[in-house]
Parts: sequence; C-alpha cells; structure tokens
Amino acid sequence: MYSRPIQNLIRILSKLPSVGPRTAERFVFHMLKSGKKEVGDLSLALQELMRNMKSCSVCYDFSDQNPCLLCNNTKRDHTMIAVVAESQDVQAIEKTSIYTGVYHVLRGTLRADREDENNGIKMAELFKRIQSSPEVKEIILALNPNMEGETTMLFLERAVKKNFPHITISRLARGLPTGSELQYADEITLENALKSRIVLK
Ligand SMILES: [Zn+2]
Repeated sequence: MYSRPIQNLIRILSKLPSVGPRTAERFVFHMLKSGKKEVGDLSLALQELMRNMKSCSVCYDFSDQNPCLLCNNTKRDHTMIAVVAESQDVQAIEKTSIYTGVYHVLRGTLRADREDENNGIKMAELFKRIQSSPEVKEIILALNPNMEGETTMLFLERAVKKNFPHITISRLARGLPTGSELQYADEITLENALKSRIVLK
C-alpha cells in the first residue's frame, strides 16, 4: 500500500472530471519524479487561482472581477441573455464574435438521477435576475443538445413562459450534433446555430 500522502493526493485527484484512480496515480508519481520546482509551481498556480478568481454576482461566470468584464460592458446588449451550462460555453460563444448580448452560467444542468446536485444550479438566480432587469427582452437557451441539456431547456422554457410572458425565449438551431457538447463545437456550426436560433414563442 502507498504511503499516506500519496494515497491522499490520489484520492483528491480522482475526484476531478475524467480522472480515475489510475490516472490520478500516474499524476502523483509524475509529480514525485518531476521534483520540487514543478510541483511548487503547480501549488502556487492553484493558490493564485483560488485567491484571485471570483464568481460574478450577475452572471455567475468565474472572473477576476465582480461584476465580470462582460456584465460591466455597456456596449454589450443587456436585453439578451444567453443561458449556458458552464463557463467554457461562454468562451465558445465569444469565439464566434457574432453574439453581442450577455450570459448566465447555470454551472450545471438539471439531473433527474442526482437531484441533490441540482441545488448548486443557478436557476433561481436567473429568475431573480430577469425579475429585477426590466430591460431583458430575450432569453436564448444555449445548453448542450444532450438529454440533460434538453431537460433543463424544457424546464426553463416552461418557467420563463409562465412567469415572464413578455420575454421572447429561443434556443440554438439544431445544427449541433445531438448528444454533443457546445464547448467542443466548431465556430462555424455554433455561429450558424446562434444566427438561425429558433424562437419558442
Ligand atoms: Zn458577469
């Protein structure tokens, strides 16, 4: 059995997405072999990440400023909110450079099998934001076209229609392959999906 510090780090790294115990084990031994300088840099980078990154209190994206640069930018169109699952999706849409509105990061999607995880989703925060922002005219549902994304979009569509009937609700056109993840979509596909978005009412 490995000594305690090794076991401990394997356990922590195994919790990262796509990292199982075998990969975690490989990481730990790579670090041990690479020496104190490299591991020290990693440790510093992690500390800096936690010290400097904030959660934007408007859109819930991660940023070193609160509100983040996008929410603070008066040149952006604040009448339009694109609802995305993760921060990486904001970056994917920004890369297309055709979207001029603002975002709301849910930090996850609704899960029927893991309801305990739904508590962390910034859904209530979205409704509160719409309520207190009379300038909002359109909500664009830009979630992944997979089962969880579809479930979440359907829920949001119904909730927005019911509680905010004055708001137009739309979703990305079906150019993205079913089951795919938005953040890995190529720019042209994403650009077309945004341009020809479907109005749901
Ligand atoms: Zn923001």
